[in-house]
Amino acid sequence: MRYFYGFLILLGVFTVITLIRALFFKPKKEQVREWEPERVNPERFRANLSEAITYKTISDRNPENMDFKQFEKFHSFLARAYPLIHECLELEKVSYASLIYRWRGRDSSLDPIALLSHQDVVPISKGTLDDWTHPPFSGFDDGEFIWGRGALDMKNHLIAVMESVESLLEEDFVPERDVYLCFGHDEEVMSLGDSGAKTIVNTFAQRGIKLDCVLDEGGAILPVNIKGVINKRLAGIGVAEKGHADFRISVRAKGGHSSQPPKHSALGKLANVIRRIESNQFKASLTPMMRSLFDKIGRNASYPVRAVACNIWLLKYPILAIMKKIPPAACMIRTTTAVTQAEGSPAPNVLPQKASITANFRIMPGETIEDVKEHIEKVVGKGVEAELIKGENPSNISPSDSRAFKAIDEICRSMNKDNIVAAFLVMGGTDARNYESICNNVYRYSPFTVSTQLLLTCHGTNERIPIASFEEALTFFKRYIKQLSKK
Ligand SMILES: [Zn+2]
Repeated sequence: MRYFYGFLILLGVFTVITLIRALFFKPKKEQVREWEPERVNPERFRANLSEAITYKTISDRNPENMDFKQFEKFHSFLARAYPLIHECLELEKVSYASLIYRWRGRDSSLDPIALLSHQDVVPISKGTLDDWTHPPFSGFDDGEFIWGRGALDMKNHLIAVMESVESLLEEDFVPERDVYLCFGHDEEVMSLGDSGAKTIVNTFAQRGIKLDCVLDEGGAILPVNIKGVINKRLAGIGVAEKGHADFRISVRAKGGHSSQPPKHSALGKLANVIRRIESNQFKASLTPMMRSLFDKIGRNASYPVRAVACNIWLLKYPILAIMKKIPPAACMIRTTTAVTQAEGSPAPNVLPQKASITANFRIMPGETIEDVKEHIEKVVGKGVEAELIKGENPSNISPSDSRAFKAIDEICRSMNKDNIVAAFLVMGGTDARNYESICNNVYRYSPFTVSTQLLLTCHGTNERIPIASFEEALTFFKRYIKQLSKK
């Protein structure tokens, strides 16, 4: 009984400590300096984005299947829409249709900065064309949205970069560092060794160019509005991206005619393997990135959420347990496993001699393809083959205290007092990863305010972007270039 009372007292003390901690867990006082207002032209941007979408710059794993005429037309459009850029910057075309613009700075001894974007878009899935409210390559402007493939991924970003540079040239701005605009043409397929982004990076490497910082797609500004809990806008800056690996996992058996089957065919045995793989997930952990995200959101939320967010040290295990049950949260805390394909024998009356599944793993930074292989071998046991089909290790993690990160953070907060900025892990792949060999500060962020619901239209039906998000995005890019092209 004495122990029980002791336990109760301890629990009481703990509870009081955690609740008191939450009282003081408020947004940190961070200085935001006054920025000069920027002159931006959202109307010109709006018209140009609309036209940019009408060029069907669709990429394909096989470049022979790509219509490069569309890319040429897109390039002529850029030249027409942004005459000062084409007068003042040097333009180079590499690897089929990728573009490198160089804006010479005053001091060539400084490391340049680079703004990336990809020109290509994904095709429209078969049988879904009629589902679109406005045709996908119309660039239709209904007064609220610009519609079409690439509106979010990522002609919006490309045209905003062009718009901002053109606008700075109109103001006779001259950067101190060189500013590069690098627009790949095959990000969506990224299949070949000579992909646009890789070729651009090789070009830089051959010239001995090291970049100070790189900005590509990845994060956005997400309105986070839960009644009574939080009402903020979360600007997620992608500082890393997950790796991926496809493994073929196979079981062999005797085979033969299906009229005399054994107790378990190769497929039957494989079913057991699938069960083992799915029930032995990778270890989950709250990475420093996740902790900082909790911290940023927690400090801006209502008291009960703050009480949780400031006591992660105590609540780590229940938080992990809950996150593991929610797929969009689970993928942020561990390497994920998805069994996606299966193969048996070639005919209904033939026992398979070899049965295989393909599993797709999305790898957390800090783990490698080799770790995934070891994990599979440990989980499936003897007599099962695991063969890597293809894969790429996760990216490095770019620092959250670099000059570039601090600038992005400050500019975001300067534009709206409700903007909170946090580093996060990007789930998909981007061109940015290729730049790690020549740059330590690689960030993935597109400064457009877009709801989660709209973000889901990327690669899907009715992709569109809210016109209301343009002014802030254009201001961001101008400030970003001004600030980071400095010494
Ligand atoms: Zn993209």
